[in-house]
Amino acid sequence: MNYELLLKEAANPLYASEREYPYPLVYPIRDSAELRLMIPILATGVPNEELFLQGPFLCCQSPSTHIGPFRHAIDFLVPNGTIVYASDEGRVETIRTASDRWGPTSEYADDLNYITLAHTTWRTHHYFGPLEYHYWTQYCHLAKDSEREFGIMVSDRVKAGQPIARTGKTGWIDRDHLHFLTFMSDGGRGKFGVISLRPRFK
Ligand SMILES: [Zn+2]
Repeated sequence: MNYELLLKEAANPLYASEREYPYPLVYPIRDSAELRLMIPILATGVPNEELFLQGPFLCCQSPSTHIGPFRHAIDFLVPNGTIVYASDEGRVETIRTASDRWGPTSEYADDLNYITLAHTTWRTHHYFGPLEYHYWTQYCHLAKDSEREFGIMVSDRVKAGQPIARTGKTGWIDRDHLHFLTFMSDGGRGKFGVISLRPRFK
């Protein structure tokens, strides 16, 4: 990912979109007593004004990176090794989990492990429609090869709430979290090809 380009493109009014993901989503992590106990540790060092609740989960803003095509991304504060669940039914489009490198600066951005799920293709009335009607969810900062534990492979169909991987520090990251985002095609109008959508959870 080219951070210079991201900074430049973020000003494009295209990315000011407040559109929502069109279907209610399952949270990509599960609530538990263990997780709640971890929260004070996970939140250490995060300025109070950057912390917020999304449902039962503590999240943090990342004002310098959740911009432009990543505007509505959510950072769920969870410890490394947390199981990640598919937020909606769909198809596994991309698995990139070969990395075990991470660091606190943009030069580590390409070391990110992530999984992308495509969704609308299974709602067949849009399958042959324009790209604007295709939607994706993406799960970032995953542990190396962690999808194998759950037998997840590219092109697999997954159900909402199905475990797909575990979190792990990879890429540009300085604290344990799951970076979750939903997006749709921008129809060729921007340099990143996607528009960030506001996730709407069940
Ligand atoms: Zn993030």
